[in-house]
Amino acid sequence: MSITDKLLSLYRIDQQIQGLTSRVNAARRYYETQQRQLTDLESRRNAAHTQARQIAATAANLETDVKGLDARIEELRKRMNEAQSAKEYKAVLTELNTVKADRERIETEAIESLGKVDSMNVQVAEIEAEIEQRRKVHDVAAQQLEKEQGEIASRLEELKTRRVEAARAVPAEAIAEFELLARRNDGEAMAEIVEEDRRRQEYCCGACNMTVPVELVSVLLSRAAMANCPSCRRILYLPEELRDDFDRRLAGRS
Ligand SMILES: [Zn+2]
Repeated sequence: MSITDKLLSLYRIDQQIQGLTSRVNAARRYYETQQRQLTDLESRRNAAHTQARQIAATAANLETDVKGLDARIEELRKRMNEAQSAKEYKAVLTELNTVKADRERIETEAIESLGKVDSMNVQVAEIEAEIEQRRKVHDVAAQQLEKEQGEIASRLEELKTRRVEAARAVPAEAIAEFELLARRNDGEAMAEIVEEDRRRQEYCCGACNMTVPVELVSVLLSRAAMANCPSCRRILYLPEELRDDFDRRLAGRS
């Protein structure tokens, strides 16, 4: 087996690992989205709840003020009845009217605040209902994630063991290059050679589609050395069918 063949075994294992984990990653992303939305709803609910409590406290203060003014009005009425002169009567009446106007204004404010508290409480209840719905979706997503993780766990373990074995068979330098290219290309360290035109001996890289000189194809055919795509640097390999094809052609020629 050439180094390229050994790397290809490694690459196939990596692709299987990627395939398995991509499903779990999708489930994880979905779960995390649900979790974020739930947290958002909860903080909106808490904010609305706090606001409702603050407005309720304001309304209570206003109602206390109204009671205080009621007592004051009572007192002024008594003083009016006991007034000794028209002048005194008129002075108390003026004050009474001012206090009454204040009372009116503050009571209106209190009623408005209580109305706001009611609508805030409705809002809290609405968010609460949304949270309940979202929590159901969230819990299903969590179960799904756990299930997916459980399903691939043993297969993933097996593939990882096989990967260690496959990597052990490859020289350290080639592994280092492979890992570097994998990091650079989203796991795609290798690319197959594609035959564009047999008669004209035109070949290209299956990943970047740029031309691969026929000399590199010959190198891979003879299994003499590794070959990199001149453009994207991925490690090139000959797909099984193409190699068989070449073998048949060579056999036909001899
Ligand atoms: Zn390429």
